[in-house]
Formats: sequence, C-alpha cells, structure tokens
Amino acid sequence: MSDNNEFNIPENKQEAKQRIQDLREEIRYHDKKYFVENQPVISDAEYDDLVRELEALEEAYPEFITEDSPSQRVGAGEIDEFQTVEHKSVMLSLDKAFNYEELKDFDDRVKRNWKQTEVEYVVETKIDGLGVALLYEDKSLKRGATRGDGARGDDITPNIRTIHAIPLKLSEESILSNAEFRGEVYMPREAFEEMNAKRLKKGKEPFANPRNAAAGTVRTKDPKVVAKRPLNIFIYSMSYYEEGDFSTHEETIEEMKKAGLRINKYVVKRGIDDVYKYLQEFEEQKDALNYEIDGMVIKVNDLEAHKILGHTTHHPRWAIAYKYPPTRKTTEIKDIRISVGRTGKLTPIAILNPIELSGTTVGRASLHNEDEIERKDIRIGDVALIQKAGEIIPQVVKVIKNKRDGSEERFQMPHTCPVCGSKAKRFGDEVARRCVNAQCPAQVKQRIEHWGERGAMNIKGLGPKLLDRLVDNGVVKNIAEIYKLSEDDLADIERMGHKSAQNLLEEIENSKSMGLSKVLYGLGITYVGDHVARVLTKKYNSIDDLKDANKKELEEVEEIGPKIAESVVSFFEEEKNRDLIEELRSNGVKMVTEKEKKRQFLKGKKFVFTGALETYTRAEASEKVREVGGRVTSSVSGETDYLVVGEDPGSKLAKAKREGTQILDEEQFLNMLKTHKLP
Ligand SMILES: [Zn+2]
Repeated sequence: MSDNNEFNIPENKQEAKQRIQDLREEIRYHDKKYFVENQPVISDAEYDDLVRELEALEEAYPEFITEDSPSQRVGAGEIDEFQTVEHKSVMLSLDKAFNYEELKDFDDRVKRNWKQTEVEYVVETKIDGLGVALLYEDKSLKRGATRGDGARGDDITPNIRTIHAIPLKLSEESILSNAEFRGEVYMPREAFEEMNAKRLKKGKEPFANPRNAAAGTVRTKDPKVVAKRPLNIFIYSMSYYEEGDFSTHEETIEEMKKAGLRINKYVVKRGIDDVYKYLQEFEEQKDALNYEIDGMVIKVNDLEAHKILGHTTHHPRWAIAYKYPPTRKTTEIKDIRISVGRTGKLTPIAILNPIELSGTTVGRASLHNEDEIERKDIRIGDVALIQKAGEIIPQVVKVIKNKRDGSEERFQMPHTCPVCGSKAKRFGDEVARRCVNAQCPAQVKQRIEHWGERGAMNIKGLGPKLLDRLVDNGVVKNIAEIYKLSEDDLADIERMGHKSAQNLLEEIENSKSMGLSKVLYGLGITYVGDHVARVLTKKYNSIDDLKDANKKELEEVEEIGPKIAESVVSFFEEEKNRDLIEELRSNGVKMVTEKEKKRQFLKGKKFVFTGALETYTRAEASEKVREVGGRVTSSVSGETDYLVVGEDPGSKLAKAKREGTQILDEEQFLNMLKTHKLP
C-alpha cells in the first residue's frame, strides 16, 4: 500500500485529474527513454516516486483509473484459457536465402516483376524470439496476440501488457492511433542466463535457450509471473494502419519510433550487392549481440512495390530472410579443462590452437558435458571441426578421426571439483556434474545471494553488488560469515552509511530465526526447492535429524524420489557442508522447525536430581530433560539452573540453597514437562 501522506493529494477533483494526466505523460516519457531508447534521464528512485505518486492519486480517485495508465501494467488474476483471435492481416513466413546466389535470384525476380533496374532494400536483424501482433485503438493497446498459424493466434494481452518496452499508449508525437504492429518478443541473453542460474538454485528446471524461455513465458497463464521474467521486444513492421500515408517501409519505421515503439537498428541499401556487403560486415558483430538472431531480413523499401509484387500462399514476394552459414574451421584440441560455473556445474572446455572465426579469435570451445565427449569421441590431441553459430561459445562439431596418429588421449571427467576438491556428482538422469560443496569459492556469491533471497532467509539489502565487494575483498567467504559482519566492515567496503548498515545488520540478525525449511531451501541443495524443503520438514524437525538420514529413509518420505534423496545425502556427506552447518549454528542460525523450537524449551538449562522420584527412575527423568534440550549433571554448582528434589534428598539440597539454585518438587517438575513452561 502506498503511503498517501507522502504526496500532496489535491482535494479538488479537477486538479487531481490534471495531476494524474501530467504524471502519466511524464512516466510514459521516461518509460520510452529507459525501456525503448535505453537513455534514462532520471534516477530509478525519482522514477519510482512518480509511479508511487500516481498510484496514490489513483487510489484516492479510482474513478480516474484508465486501462492505459502506467500503473495498470500487471493485472490481477490469472488467464483461464487463451482465446483465439484473428489477425488484421495474415502473418506470412519469409522465404529463405542461404548464399549470395539465392539473394541474387530474389533480387532478379523483384526487378523483373516490378520492372526496375535497381532496388532499394531495408536490412534488419531477424530476432529469434516469438512473433506477436499488437493492436492499438485510439492510441491504447487493445490486444496482443501470438502469431499462431499466421491467420489466427492466441490472445495474450495481459502478458503483453507487462512488457515495459511496449507502450500501453502510443505517443502524441505520432499520428498513429489505430494500427496493428508486428514484433518479436525475446529474452536478452544476459538476463536469460541470470534467470536460469536462479531457477537452478530454486530447484526448478532451467530453460533450454532464450527462445524457449520467451515462448514459454508468453504463454504462461499468470501475468504476475510474466512480469518478473526479463522479456523485451523489437517491433519490425506495421501490418495495418488507419492514419498516415507512407510511401516507404523506412517511413513507417520512423513513424513507429515516434509512436514510442522499440525498433531495432536497420540500414537502407541500394542494390543487392551493397546488401550482401553489409550482411558480411554484420556477420562479424552478430555473436556479440545481447540477443539471438535467426539471420537477417531484406525488404523492398517501396510500399507500392509490395502491392505490385504481392505474395505466394506462403511468402511475401518483396522480402526474404538471409541465413548465415555457420562458420567452421578445423584446429587442434590441445587440452580439455573444467570450468566451474556459478551454480557449481562442471563444464568441460576444449583448449584450442587459436583460430579466426567470424572475425574473432577462438581459443576455447564448450564440450557441454561428459556424455557429449563420449558421444563424439573427443580426445586430447584430436583435430576437430569447430563451429560458431548464434552462440557465444563455439562448439566442436566433430573430430577428424583420420588425422589421428595414436598419440591422442582419452579424457576422464573428474569426479571432484577442480576449484575446491569436493565431490562433483551427477544426480538422476542429469547430464551435468555438479560440485556439492556449499562453500565452493566458485559458487560463493551465488550461494549467498540465494541464501538471502525472499523465499529463503529474506535478507533485504544483500544484493549482488554488495556481495561482489564483500567476497572479492575476502570479507565473506561463505554463507555463515555474513553473520559476523560488523558496521565497520560495511562502512569500509561499501562506504555504507550508519542507517543502511544498521538496517542490513538487523535483517541479517532477524534471518537467524527463519526456521528449518527456509534454511534447507537457502542452502541451495540441488532439487531442494521451496516446496521440497517444506516436505522434508514434515518428517525432520532439525537439521541434525536430516543430516544423518540415509537414502532409503528419505525415499520413504512422500514426494521424495531417488533423485532428491541422493542429492540430499550427497550434500550432507560432504565434510565442508557439515562444517558450514556447524559454523551457521555457532553464529546463531536456528536450524530446527517451529515445532521443534517450541519443544526444545529447556535448551541450555542445567538440571541436577536428588532423592527418589515416584513417577520416573533417575535415568528416565534425565532422558525426559535431555529430550527437550536440557542437560543433566550430577552435582550442584553455580551454573545449575534447577534442582529436582524427590524422597529423601541428599546433601545437594543444602548446597543448592546456598547457591540460590531454583528448587522443584516432583509435582512442579512433572507439570513443567507437561506444559512446556518454565516454572
Ligand atoms: Zn567446488
């Protein structure tokens, strides 16, 4: 809820309405600057203030809320079922060209049918994402739909609205008001990798590639989930419009830009030879882009020509997609080394005799995993065919076996982590091998970040930037050491002010009592997500119970299969993880369930017995005390908390009286055990 006192809420309705309109315009302007043009002009905090003021005003005057208000991106509720909708015009697919000759044929056909001697083309990237059509009416976003079969797609409007690069309202600077646009929803590479790393830590399956991630997300039925995923969009054409009169494709692009739509870089070239020259130049840059492309698109610029040329049943005749050939070369594999990722995954990397590929020097190629090495029979010393295609890290296509001279060595995937020496294991049918050590230096930042996450220990302010500094400067080496941070540490490393440091330390302190299921989730044990962690705490009340559980016992727990059981056992088998648990414990982190915490009500209390009890033998009574966390000693000292007195007490009673120890008779003792309350 917003705090209405923070902003000036006008009492006059007209005044409020005006302020709401002004704020919306301002927020739209900054959305465009930030999400579309990537040139923010105000800080995030200033932007947040504008949004919060708008929300406060709309809360006070709900009658002024409109669908296209920037506050209304994420709607409430889930989508029941995707409705099928018809596109304004059919979304055709493009014909493909794989080389210069095929481009030349395309150009010849265009010239012949359009009766021209030279043609002007627009060249754009072909984003490898999910095709969508966006329909605007009276400048407001009315509908977003998937491409579907080209004629009909699924209505995914609530999901589309959450993508900030898509304006809910077209800019007043443009004449466009009623139009349909086409674009490609995609996930930026970096954001994709970050998201996958987080999913793994949460025990969720990672997405195979950015395209699958974008396609899966767009078809998710909960817009709130979609809003959290890093989706973006490039608009590439206008398929229908009621306003404006355009003679070239380029003019429509510039008008769409004015309307606030996000357009990728494009060039205009005369003649197919200049187009081809540009395609070759661009090939050298394409792997460095922060998104995957599926080639380039070449379109005739003149819109009149589009009408004259028309289309076949499948493809327009005025455009073609150009596919880059994968670049391949042979070189020697000098060595195979292991790299340990932030999530503990061991990836074998081929160290190559450096070669030039797509304009960059390539010295390494990913071998993915041990199964891949075996399948392709890759050996150290082999001559291999290396390919670079759309991915940042080049791949080994195959080895050239007839170049072998017998000196090649087979590679053995290590079963220990090369960074920390702990066990590296494969669970279930997973192809990847992972280091199980939660203290592994290669993983420490990711581990701590995960530990502090909202679903885990919920430590606000323990962000990646701060962790970078803390870990890189050696202040924190594992999860447990964040509990030893002082205000001085934070002031030294981050130049953090008194108040921020106090807040963070308080957050850290509070996290100590989050309970066992959060601890288990926070430890980042493979396959132990939030849900599995809770399932485990139904059977195990403390980490000490769980850490000694064997595979068979774990598999008896409902919902726990062999894969999870093996992962849990491997985690606690690792000496360094047991050390970490002890370190967490001695730093005050509680690793018992709520139930157990209540049960252990005598934790730290020392008991001494004297005389005979009626209900229990001495041994039984001692066991009762130990079960609920207390300790039993044989003689009274200054440290004794309680003396339990039965029939015929000995000299201990007098000693206890001298020491001021609290004395309980049998009834009081039994009552305490029954009520779980200290007398
Ligand atoms: Zn390791």
